[in-house]
Amino acid sequence: MNNMFKLAVLPGDGIGPEVMRQALKILNKIKKYLNKKIIINTYQVGGTAINTFGNALPEETLHGCEESDAILFGSIGGPEWDYLPLEKRPEQGSLLKLRKHFNLFANLRPAYIYDNLYSLSPLKNIIIRKGFDVVCVRELTGGIYFGEPKGVQYQPNNTYAFDTEIYYEYEIERIAKIAFNLAVKRKKKICSIDKANVLYTSVLWRRVINKISQMYDEVTLQHMYIDNAVMQLMKNPSQFDVILCPNLFGDIISDQCAMITGSIGNLPSASLNNKNFGLYEPAGGSAPNIAGKNIANPIAQILSLSMLIEYSLQNSVVAQKINNAIIQTLAQGYRTKDLVNQNTQLLNIVTTEEMGTLITQNII
Ligand code: NAD
Repeated sequence: MNNMFKLAVLPGDGIGPEVMRQALKILNKIKKYLNKKIIINTYQVGGTAINTFGNALPEETLHGCEESDAILFGSIGGPEWDYLPLEKRPEQGSLLKLRKHFNLFANLRPAYIYDNLYSLSPLKNIIIRKGFDVVCVRELTGGIYFGEPKGVQYQPNNTYAFDTEIYYEYEIERIAKIAFNLAVKRKKKICSIDKANVLYTSVLWRRVINKISQMYDEVTLQHMYIDNAVMQLMKNPSQFDVILCPNLFGDIISDQCAMITGSIGNLPSASLNNKNFGLYEPAGGSAPNIAGKNIANPIAQILSLSMLIEYSLQNSVVAQKINNAIIQTLAQGYRTKDLVNQNTQLLNIVTTEEMGTLITQNII
């Protein structure tokens, strides 16, 4: 049995390297609990790679990722590279390429509100205090973002543009299985989002999800139209557990879930393929407005590591150790600046480095 686990670390731009350092502190502490030897290789990606290699995803980085068992990704992009054509910018030039190259079709975005962070949520206390703990499972490589044909036809007084929403049965089946397997380990509830009253792709989506649900007797399946889902998330977010979405609806719903928790700095994500290979990254971006100031929240990056340990290393016990250390650190009153508002009192505001160290110390 291969006892080595090769990890490609891609810190990227902006706050990426600062928060990645904190995740690596945690990894250093917990590696003794893992039953594999972790080999870490760090590669350049995004704007920093453009500056060094003239390419957001240099050959060496792509090759390093291919040789690895998982990718821990920081964040990329920033105004410095906005002058470049879209396909050469950090986002399209590296992250989208990686998703496509590794066929990362399943995007998992957990959104969770910690007990002592209720005041950060824009929702009323009476609503958010019922709790919010969901995973949005978004189909990431199909649907209207990739469907062909798409384009613009320029013609005098009658210019038009078009996109194609297309889903194959196998694409719906494989994302459904990911969502159902996840639901089995959680509250055994799935809400599948579509627009089956209008779109043919949604009719097929619903039919295939119903078929897959027959393999999972213990999971309760509900279907909801996207327009109702955005309302229900505002009105009664505690009713949801796993939310399963096609690409476009998942893009919208996952950001709405992020906002309900109050801070993008706490939210991780995983993008997986069918060979158990994953790219793990914070839900937010490179935050150029706070980069280099040692004030960014490292929790999203640390939770991305925790997801990597859970899904790629399949060790939920060690992942839970990290999650517990975060809960403990927040319960002790430590906060990075983004977790503080006018309603929070008696807190210790800490730097990125301090938060990383405190969470590391709280791992038992
Ligand atoms: P952003 O997520 O970087 O920042 C939005 C706001 O959230 C900012 O106020 C920022 O300070 C704050 N924020 C984000 N992460 C934080 C953290 N960990 N701690 C504290 N505050 C945090 O989004 P943006 O400003 O729209 O984009 C900035 C750059 O990031 C752009 O170049 C964009 O294209 C890129 N981007 C990259 C990714 C990615 O790497 N996956 C995702 C989104 C945006």
